[in-house]
Amino acid sequence: MTGIAKLPRFVVFVFDALRRDMISARHMPHLRRFIDEGCDFPASRCVFPSATRVNAAALACGAMPAATGVVANQFFDARVYANKLFHTGRHDDMQAAERAYGGAFVTAPTLADVLASHGYSVAVVSSGSAGTTHLLNPRSATHGHVTLCLSDWRRSSPQAYAGEILRRYGPLPQAATPNLERIRLQMDMTLEAVLPEIAPDVLLIWFSDPDSTYHECGIGSPQSIAAIENTDRQFGRFLDAWRNHPESARCMVAVCSDHAQLSAERRVRPKDAMRAAGLVVGNRLDAQTPYAGSAGYYGAIRVDAGNPEKLAMLAQWLQEQPWCGHIFTPDGDGVRGAIPGTLDRRLLMLEHARAPELYYTMRADDARNRFGLPGTCWFASREIPDGGGTHGGLHRIEMSNLLALQGEGLRQSYRSPWPASQTDLAPTVLSRLGIAAPATMTGRALSEAIENAAEPPPVEARVFDAQSARHAQFLRLWRVGGSAYIDQGWVEQA
Ligand SMILES: [Zn+2]
Repeated sequence: MTGIAKLPRFVVFVFDALRRDMISARHMPHLRRFIDEGCDFPASRCVFPSATRVNAAALACGAMPAATGVVANQFFDARVYANKLFHTGRHDDMQAAERAYGGAFVTAPTLADVLASHGYSVAVVSSGSAGTTHLLNPRSATHGHVTLCLSDWRRSSPQAYAGEILRRYGPLPQAATPNLERIRLQMDMTLEAVLPEIAPDVLLIWFSDPDSTYHECGIGSPQSIAAIENTDRQFGRFLDAWRNHPESARCMVAVCSDHAQLSAERRVRPKDAMRAAGLVVGNRLDAQTPYAGSAGYYGAIRVDAGNPEKLAMLAQWLQEQPWCGHIFTPDGDGVRGAIPGTLDRRLLMLEHARAPELYYTMRADDARNRFGLPGTCWFASREIPDGGGTHGGLHRIEMSNLLALQGEGLRQSYRSPWPASQTDLAPTVLSRLGIAAPATMTGRALSEAIENAAEPPPVEARVFDAQSARHAQFLRLWRVGGSAYIDQGWVEQA
């Protein structure tokens, strides 16, 4: 493309929630070809919970939630709010969190932080939520990096540049499912303004689709097809600019999805049921409200002062629910949690001061939805219609995310047999630049993708289980050298 004098060294595209089985030559010809001709990581997995902000922070930091401190999409943190849940997607909540933590709500250095300290610049252009956009480069204003957030322009920075972009491109189209107009405008801004005017060293593009369209219209619905076709068209516009650029060889391109989705088929109301059982899960912690947190398709529930009896009461009640899948509690032996019949929370790699005592998942299976796509589950949400999409749990389909690369010196038409994750992107970028990764970056540089580079060590797989009267829970972890991955979790009837 004319006008782009200098290409970034790295470009990362995130297709929020995109399922691998929907990347067809018919509906996503550009992305399909990109994956087939490049390095694909079919065994890529997101981090748990398979939720957007948790994974946005993991991508940004190349690290597990144990390091980032983003341990759920919505959770109770008395330091942010003493009497309501903190919603990580919302601009005001995220600003409150940054104030509460002195600008260090994310407790690990991000790729952008490390790059800034070496004089490189990062630009983010996102149609995801303000919280998602923020987490990709939380300290962008300090670094003088450009962030454009089409869903909530208040999160855009620096102010002067964001204001100029808004004058040129505004007013912004309303959010829609599919989010066609906004995402088209997002690529206009990227190709016509950010790339030629800012010339960032690293560019991150976050597409809000197909996530919100899956949620609202169902996975495989005509609207979801329109959503993925649009993201593919916009991605194709970038590919044209990249491939036709005289310096295309200096730029590596990565594509990923932050998680996938399942079809929400069987509705439950956990908070109501818990209340009826005398287990009130509220938005504060005190003598009357011993539990606080979110209790949806996955649960992230804090127990007042970690009270073991209260924790046991909740965990035992959950074990009796036909919809309940996994239950994780802390302070066990590393495999089984302290409460009998539960798994140890440590297996989830999110041990952090903010981690709630108890996590649960709902049951999910491989059944097909009304559009013929596999993976259905119980669910709990006021926003999701019956048959819509959801995610956050441990089922193989929702944990399986897209990850693929192309660039100079990378293998072509290569399928990696190793597990991988979007946590591996930041270490891969730093490794290509010859910059040492900080100790918190537990992801690995994806050396198998590089021609003539040493292969990673062999994969070690381990399955952990916990039994209760009603069901048996399983969790499979993978290890490659110093990097660990959650493959998937499943339950079997006892
Ligand atoms: Zn997402």
